[in-house]
Amino acid sequence: MKLSTLQLYLLLALFSLMFTSVWSYNSFLKIEQENERILTEAIPISNAAARLFPLLLDQELTVRSYLLDQNDQTFQQFKDTNAELKETIARLKMLDQRHPIMKQLLAEEAIPLIQRTDGFYEQQIRWIRDNQVERATLKRYSGMDYVNQFRPINAKIRQDIDNIIKEATDRSKAASASAKWVIVIVVSVAVLLLFAFLQTFRLERSKQALIHRSLHDALTGIPNRRAFDEHLETSFTSAKETQTDVALILIDVDEFKRYNDTYGHLKGDWCLQKVAGTLKKHAGDFGLVSRYGGEEFAVILTEQADQASHVAERIRSEILQLNIEHATYQPLCRVSVSIGLAVVQPTERMQEGDLIVLADQALYRAKSSGRNQISSHEAS
Ligand code: GH3
Ligand code: MG
Ligand code: MG
Repeated sequence: MKLSTLQLYLLLALFSLMFTSVWSYNSFLKIEQENERILTEAIPISNAAARLFPLLLDQELTVRSYLLDQNDQTFQQFKDTNAELKETIARLKMLDQRHPIMKQLLAEEAIPLIQRTDGFYEQQIRWIRDNQVERATLKRYSGMDYVNQFRPINAKIRQDIDNIIKEATDRSKAASASAKWVIVIVVSVAVLLLFAFLQTFRLERSKQALIHRSLHDALTGIPNRRAFDEHLETSFTSAKETQTDVALILIDVDEFKRYNDTYGHLKGDWCLQKVAGTLKKHAGDFGLVSRYGGEEFAVILTEQADQASHVAERIRSEILQLNIEHATYQPLCRVSVSIGLAVVQPTERMQEGDLIVLADQALYRAKSSGRNQISSHEAS
């Protein structure tokens, strides 16, 4: 199957559209994955950050208790809480490093304050353990100051995380909505292109049908005069090059006017169809059979020009054997044809018309010699 340029362009457009749709779908998918990743990282950070404030409070409580009871168990509790706090900070730093979410807030506000608080508690513990409980007692309310300073930072951390989660969720929603629209648009355009592509096939088919119609006779379905002219011209050109023969057989239905007058025009049409069918069947393999005009037909032979006499005789006898009644055509009383035959080897100066004239003259002789016979240009 050969595609026209328009069809090639349409195919190209269709493929690029398909490619674009797959590509944009992948891009949107990537955005969604990225957002999901932020979400999955924001949640552990959020969980760890939420632990900071309670741990600070726990620390304050254990240091205060230790100040009162100086019990080893309380000291151990402080050490455990402190260790957990340090571990939480380390985890936060590590999570934030992989995908910085609250870098500034953690580095500049939360961690320095926790470190200062930590330094204060270490100092309190040292004093208690060095039997300077009075010194530590004097400072016992400062811990709460640090805890209070941490409250707004804690609120900011929570706010930040809420914003991060909200932004990522919104972005992924927008991305998937856009992806859906891109796909809807791309599919619609692809369907339109496909439709246009199919339409070109229909156009091509109707173009071929028009060409066929312009070269064929409506009544008999065989090639018409235009096809005859074109074929004779090309046959002449190639015969001149190869120095070979071209034969023309002109066939004319005898007393056809009378046939029409006797049986009517419609029956006349039917008769012409029968004659055309017989010509196609018995001469079609030898050359181009056409309706030359009215009740006249023609056969152009090139490769098998030497078979022209044989073909002409076959045509004459086959049509007679159709036994189409023609009562007013005496004495045969059935439809016959007269045939004019001419064979030439075209010279440079010779025109297609010259061959037609020769065949026509031969046909005229066949008519005047009594019809239902063949007259050949060579025989004259
Ligand atoms: P001759 O034997 O000398 O050829 O006599 P003829 O009557 O066949 O020749 P003439 O040229 O006088 O008449 C040809 C007739 O063919 C006249 C015309 O009405 C008829 N004819 C031409 N085309 C058609 C057609 O398509 N259908 C029908 N039914 N008749 C047609
Ligand atoms: Mg005629
Ligand atoms: Mg006639």
